Amino acid sequence: MEISFYVTLFALAAFVLGAAIGSFLNVSIYRLPRDISVKEPRRSFCPACKTQIPWQQNIPLVSWLVLRGRCAKCGSKIAFRYFGVELLTALLFLAVWEFFPWKIAIAYWVFVSILLIATFVDLEHFIIPDQITIGGTIAGIIASFIVPELMSADTRLAALVRSGLAAAFGYLILWIVLEGGKIAFGKKRVKLDGPTLFTWTRHGDDADFIVGEERSLWSDYFAREKDRLLLHCDEAKIDNRVVGNETLEFHYNRVRIGGEEFVLDTVDQISGTVRELEIPREAMGRGDLKFLAAIGAFLGWRGVLFSIFAGSVAGSLVGLATLIIGKRVWSAKLPFGPYLALGALIWMFFGERFVQWYFHFVNPV
Ligand SMILES: [Zn+2]
Repeated sequence: MEISFYVTLFALAAFVLGAAIGSFLNVSIYRLPRDISVKEPRRSFCPACKTQIPWQQNIPLVSWLVLRGRCAKCGSKIAFRYFGVELLTALLFLAVWEFFPWKIAIAYWVFVSILLIATFVDLEHFIIPDQITIGGTIAGIIASFIVPELMSADTRLAALVRSGLAAAFGYLILWIVLEGGKIAFGKKRVKLDGPTLFTWTRHGDDADFIVGEERSLWSDYFAREKDRLLLHCDEAKIDNRVVGNETLEFHYNRVRIGGEEFVLDTVDQISGTVRELEIPREAMGRGDLKFLAAIGAFLGWRGVLFSIFAGSVAGSLVGLATLIIGKRVWSAKLPFGPYLALGALIWMFFGERFVQWYFHFVNPV
C-alpha cells in the first residue's frame, strides 16, 4: 500500500515535470530557428501581440485548456501544437520513467527533449538547429560518461569512446547515403497528366510557383548553387515575351530559354503550360547528419542503423499515404528529422526486444 503510494507519486511527478519541460521546449521550438534567445526575454510572449504572458496564464497543459487556445490579451489563436508538445513531453517522460532504471531515465529525458525540439522545428522550418544537433551529440557523450549503462559498457571511459564512435558512425553513414542520393535522387522527374497551367510570380526576393493546383515557394527548390529546375513547356510567356515549345532551364537566380538568359530579379511573371518538370531534390539536409550523430551518442551504433531503417520505412509510408489521399502530388522538400526521431524513440523503448526477436527469427532454437 505504502510502496504503491510512492510509485504513483513518482509517476505523477515525472508527468508534471514532463509537462513543465514541454512548456520550455515550446519556447525553444519557437525561438531557436528565429534566433531569439531562450533566456531573454524571460517570460513567454504571445506570438501575435507580443504581450508577456503572466505566470498564472502559463501553467503547462492547464492554461491552454482554460483559455481554450486563445491569448487572454488579444484573443488570437494559440496553436494546438503548444498543448500537444506539452502533453507529448509529459507522456514520454512518464513512459521513460516507467520503462528504465532512474539513472538511464534521466539521461533519456534529456534525449527525448532533443528529439521533440528537432521534430517540431524541422516540420515547420525544414532545418534542425546546431544547438540541438551538435549540442545533443555533446550531451549524449557526457551522459554516456556519467551513465555507462547507456552504452552497455563497464567503465566510463569505454562508454565515452563507444558513444563518440557511434556519433561519428551516425554522421558518416548518413553522409554516404546523402552523397549517393545526390546521384540517385539528384533530379526528380514529374510527368504531368497533360499540359498544365503554371505561373511564377515574383514578390521581393522570392516567388510563388504554382503548377495546376500545387502551390509552392520558389526558394524551396534550390539548396545548392548548381541546382537546376527544368520545365518542358508547350508554351510560355516571360513578362510579355511569348515563346513556343521550349524547355525553361531555371537556376536559383536566372532562367535560360533557348539561347537567351534572363535574370529573375528583372522578371515579374512567367506563365504557360507545362508537360513535364525536373526538380532538384536534396534527399536530406545537412542537419540530419548531425542529428543522427546525436542519436548515436545516446543510443549507440545499432540505434543509428535502426533509426535510419525505421525512419525510411515510416517516411515512405507517409509519403505514399499523402500521395494516395492526394494532398500532395509532389514536393521538393521532405523533412527527414521527424522520422529519424520516431525511429530513435522506437529503438529506445523496444530495441533490445527487437534484437532478441530478430535473432530468434533468423536462428530459431
Ligand atoms: Zn496576444
